[in-house]
Amino acid sequence: MDDLAPEEIDQLHAELMALSEELLLLIDISEAESRPVDLDQPIGRLSRMDAMAQQKISQANRQAAQARAKGVQSAIQRIAEGEYGDCLGCGESIGVQRLKVKPEAAFCIVCQSQREAAGSVSAGR
Ligand SMILES: [Zn+2]
Repeated sequence: MDDLAPEEIDQLHAELMALSEELLLLIDISEAESRPVDLDQPIGRLSRMDAMAQQKISQANRQAAQARAKGVQSAIQRIAEGEYGDCLGCGESIGVQRLKVKPEAAFCIVCQSQREAAGSVSAGR
């Protein structure tokens, strides 16, 4: 009943494309940052530990960005297939309000919170 209007899909599609580009850039940058610490570099013990901690953080960020990029890609795919906006869990409409906040959402709020409670999906951001 509250299916997405074509112009709403257009809008969300544009957002997904921008998001995808942004995430790929982010992954690129963090990839450079998470290169193994060069242990031969004369940076001292403390700063080496800093560098390794920093590396762990950017690794986690990159994994989060990669997971989100994957979700964005499959949302773009679902638009192409005309299935975008329907919950993958219950088949109900996800709702445009939720999609505006999280255009890559694949589940309605009910299914999403069930999945998160079950621990099968990380909480995302
Ligand atoms: Zn659902």
